[in-house]
Amino acid sequence: MYKTVDAFMETVIAKNPAQDEFHQAVQEVVESIWDYLQDNPHYMHTKILDRIVEPERVVMFRVPWRDDQGTVQVNRGYRVEFNSAIGPYKGGLRFHPSVSLGILKFLGFEQIFKNSLTTLPMGGGKGGSDFDPKGKSENEVMSFCQSFMTELNRHIGPVTDVPAGDIGVGGREIGYLFGQYKRIRNEFTGVLTGKGLNWGGSLIRPEATGYGCVYFADEMLKTRGDSFKGKTVAVSGSGNVAQFATEKVIELGGKVVTLSDSSGSIYDPEGIDTNKLKWVMDLKNIRRGRIKEYTDQFGGEYWEGKRPWGAKCDVALPSATQNEINKEDAETLVKNNCFCVAEGANMPSDPDAIEVFVKNKILFGPGKAANAGGVAVSGLEMSQNSMLMAWNRDEVDAKLKSIMTCIHQACEKYGKEGSYINYVKGANIAGFIKVADSMIDQGVV
Ligand code: NDP
Repeated sequence: MYKTVDAFMETVIAKNPAQDEFHQAVQEVVESIWDYLQDNPHYMHTKILDRIVEPERVVMFRVPWRDDQGTVQVNRGYRVEFNSAIGPYKGGLRFHPSVSLGILKFLGFEQIFKNSLTTLPMGGGKGGSDFDPKGKSENEVMSFCQSFMTELNRHIGPVTDVPAGDIGVGGREIGYLFGQYKRIRNEFTGVLTGKGLNWGGSLIRPEATGYGCVYFADEMLKTRGDSFKGKTVAVSGSGNVAQFATEKVIELGGKVVTLSDSSGSIYDPEGIDTNKLKWVMDLKNIRRGRIKEYTDQFGGEYWEGKRPWGAKCDVALPSATQNEINKEDAETLVKNNCFCVAEGANMPSDPDAIEVFVKNKILFGPGKAANAGGVAVSGLEMSQNSMLMAWNRDEVDAKLKSIMTCIHQACEKYGKEGSYINYVKGANIAGFIKVADSMIDQGVV
């Protein structure tokens, strides 16, 4: 039996070389549940830690397709089916050149605990490819998606594994993937979530991660008798999560002053209002342009190659990608009196940054709690598909809000340290207990 977190991590690192993000995600979870494990030694006796860091299955495959010039291109596809103790594998597909097995294992591992927190019956999984949809024609994106699904279809199914979108996989890609699945399998089932409304999608799914993150942040603010009203908010990213987080902040009376993409950030001290946001949505979702163009249209500043954390704000919602806030960024945020950070993205704050937030006792909501709204509404999409019915917008939004409140309560229950709520610890322990107990109930499988 392992005597220390370091001893356990040595085994994980030796078994999974060169998977830095995976090591980082495991370390964060194990560190924060370690004391709980010592108080509950049956988890150690049943080797739950060794079992939970090993994916049940990893599929890795060739994705050949032809570009518009007729040249053959080859990408690599993956599906990590990490844990099915509490339900079918569930987690997004990421299409981005940085995708590797280590990144998908980090995301799949996080997904286990996140899905557990939602209160819905969903296991953890993640997949994707090193394909970059940026700069590709519609035809190229479709050819790639069809080839990707030609292999993936044999590994997934509505009661086995239900993928969704993530970075680089939005409604367009889900449509092409679903069409190909249906063609090959000759069945119309809820095998993917994030589907179009006309063909089995759920209302509020596109909005869910961003809205959910703001609902969670609002719950955190309430613990200090505060709200979004009049708050200045820094958001990073300008994709799905960032757009709908911005929309909800505006609705709750806050002012969003930044957005970003992988080239740089925009700072608009006047605030991004509903009309400006509509323009950004068109820029990013239809014209597929760069965020820099915002300043040509509306003024403000463009910070080439920089992240938004230098902007003065009360609340930060990192919603782009992993490790986008380092120690220095975290110190700048705290120095500028930012007192609430809710992670729309997965693992956007690195371990040193988290240490700064926790040490300064600011409200810090980790991704697996704060961005769980997306997968929660995916779970609701699965429920609606199974029942062959559709709930209205208000019903789904109310369920999302109630799930985010439940997640907040779970974090509070397990994360209370005197008057401070350590949400990292709370989310990890609450997410872990349900999965670990289910694994024990099901025997050594
Ligand atoms: P999108 O592809 O819609 O948007 C991603 C945004 O992040 C884009 O603005 C993109 O800029 C930017 N970005 C991507 N990679 C980098 C990078 N390396 N450096 C700086 N900026 C980058 O993805 P989503 O909005 O769906 O996802 C954002 C985050 O939220 C991810 O961490 C994802 O895992 C997480 N998440 C998403 C959920 C969902 O439902 N969509 C659910 C839960 C978590 P550019 O256009 O230049 O690439």
